[in-house]
Amino acid sequence: MIDPMLHRCRSAVLLYALHATAASYHFGSVWDGAKVWKDACISVNSGKIESVGPCAAGDSPADLTRFYAIPGLIDAHTHMTYNLNEPVAQAGRGAATVYLSQGNARKTLETGVTTVRNLGASDYADIAMRDLINNGLMAGPRMFVSGYGLTISRGGRGGGPGTADGVTEVLKVVRAQVGAGADVIKMYGSTGTGRDLTGFQTFTYDEIKAAVDAAHALGKKIAIHTYGPDCARDAVRAGADSIEHATGLDEATIAEMARRKTFYVPTIDHNRYYADNYRKLNYPERAVAELNAFVQRNLETARQAFHAGVRFAMGSDAVYTMFGENTRELGWFVQAGMTPQQALATATTDGADLLGVADRLGALRPGYLADIVAVEGDPLADIKVVIDRVRWVMKGGDVVVDKTK
Ligand SMILES: [Zn+2]
Repeated sequence: MIDPMLHRCRSAVLLYALHATAASYHFGSVWDGAKVWKDACISVNSGKIESVGPCAAGDSPADLTRFYAIPGLIDAHTHMTYNLNEPVAQAGRGAATVYLSQGNARKTLETGVTTVRNLGASDYADIAMRDLINNGLMAGPRMFVSGYGLTISRGGRGGGPGTADGVTEVLKVVRAQVGAGADVIKMYGSTGTGRDLTGFQTFTYDEIKAAVDAAHALGKKIAIHTYGPDCARDAVRAGADSIEHATGLDEATIAEMARRKTFYVPTIDHNRYYADNYRKLNYPERAVAELNAFVQRNLETARQAFHAGVRFAMGSDAVYTMFGENTRELGWFVQAGMTPQQALATATTDGADLLGVADRLGALRPGYLADIVAVEGDPLADIKVVIDRVRWVMKGGDVVVDKTK
C-alpha cells in the first residue's frame, strides 16, 4: 500500500538530492539585474545562487564562456491554459486542459521565461498546473495564477464562476478565487479581446474599488484588463497594482500612474500575433488592418507612459500558439524608447516587483533562486539577442533547456 504522506516525503528528498550538489558556471559576461560582470562565475547550491563574481582559483566551473548570463525572465501576462484545440467533453475538462497545456509551458521555458503571472483560466486548470510544476511533476515556468478573471454578466465571458454584478458579488468572487488558491486577482474592466478591439468600461468605479480593496485585504495584488482609457482611469484611482493592455491613456491618468507607481503591462505584441495568425484564428482578412492599427495606438500609449516615468512589466498575453514568442514584447519596448537594459528590467527586476517576489527572483544575487538564462550575444547592445538567441536555461538550480551543443 502506498502511504501518500511517505510518498510525498520521498519526492521531496529526491528533489532535494537533485539540488544538493553545488555547481559553478563560467560565463563570458553576466548582467545580474543591476550591473555587468565580465568573465564571471555563478555558483549554485540547493537551487539557489551562492555567489556571482570572479571565478575562484581551484574551481572547475562548467564552461559557458561563449554566453552572456541574465536573470530568468518573467512574463507578467499569460494564459497558459488557452489552446486552439479545446477539450470537447465538459466533464473532466480541467484535467484535459492541463494535459493540452504542457507544450505551452515547455515553449515558454525555451524563451528564457522561468516565471509567469497567469491572468485568467477556467476550471482552475492554472492552479493545478502551478502545483504540478512546483512539485516537479510537470516541466514549466513557476506560475503565479489568478483562477477565474472577474467579469460582468453581459454575453461573451459572463455566466461562469468569474461573473459578478454589483459590489456584493464582486467581493464574493474575489474571495472565492483567493479561497481556491489564487495568487493574484484578475478583473476584466472593459470589453476587448481577440478581434474585438472595443474598450467599453464594464465594471463601475465602486465595483473596481471593491475588488481592489478585497484583494489587498487578503494580501493579493490585482491586475485590471482594459483596452480603453475609461476603465484605466478608474482602476488607477481605485489603487490597482497593474493596468493591462490599455490604449489612449489620458495625460492625467499617465501622471497618476507614475505618481502611484502603478504598473503598465501594455501587451503590444499579442495583437501582432493575432494579425499574423488571422487565418488560423478564423478572423476575416479585414481584422488584420484593425489589429495592426491597435498595435500602433498601443505603442504610442506605451511611448507616452514610458516618457512620463510609468513603471512597466513585460507581459505577452500569450495564448494558443503564441507560446515561444513571449519575449517579442521587448522589441516593442525598445521601439517605445527604452534602452535594451531598461527593456530587460521590465522582464526581470521590475516584473519581480510587480509579483511581490523581488527578494528572490528577477536578479542574480546570492540567496536568490537560481533562475539563469544564457544568451548568445550582448543583450544590452541588442534586445534581439534575448528574443532569438536563448541557448540555456536554469530554473531553481535545474538545467531545463540546453541548446549549447
Ligand atoms: Zn490576457
